[in-house]
Amino acid sequence: MQIGVFALQGDFEKHGRALRRLGVDTVYVNSAWQLSTLDAVILPGGESSTMLKLLDLEGLFEPLKQFAAEKPIFGTCAGSILLATEVTSPSQRSLGAIDMTVERNAYGRQVDSSIRTILPEKEFENRTRPGELEIVFIRAPIIREVRGGARVLASLEGDPILVEQGRHLVATFHPEMTEDTRAHELFLRKAREK
Ligand code: GLN
Repeated sequence: MQIGVFALQGDFEKHGRALRRLGVDTVYVNSAWQLSTLDAVILPGGESSTMLKLLDLEGLFEPLKQFAAEKPIFGTCAGSILLATEVTSPSQRSLGAIDMTVERNAYGRQVDSSIRTILPEKEFENRTRPGELEIVFIRAPIIREVRGGARVLASLEGDPILVEQGRHLVATFHPEMTEDTRAHELFLRKAREK
């Protein structure tokens, strides 16, 4: 199985490390031809507006949209913003793979970055392993609404932070920055099933 990590900008190397720890080889993606060789891709954290510009510059926006129609994508933080159907504050284009509204930088300046511990939904624990989840936030968005087939797998104070829709998965936090590999494991399972 070949998993790609988008390496245009942001925090892609830590995803590579997380996947290696799970015994999976990573391909760093920065051009469209690579997509045809991959089973699934990860869109890392970083700055979603900058990533959007780079996706356009490399002619990757439409190919990525096509990829999403067939294969799994895992978006973390900025990557979750790129996968939403609606983005606010300010509004920007997105791939529309997960039916949700996301507000950028919504935790405010004071709590720019934080580490929290939450108990995920039972469903997440049943499909991975039980136990609390350590959450690293860096200028994270807030998922304001999930609709249709989107399912919440973990929340913080009532706001969803881990959501799946079919083959796709998004986290507003940074699972690649902790030792807990369950979110990546869940995504790899999706990638194997497809
Ligand atoms: N604030 C960034 C954005 O709006 C996301 C931050 C992150 O990915 N850590 O794109």
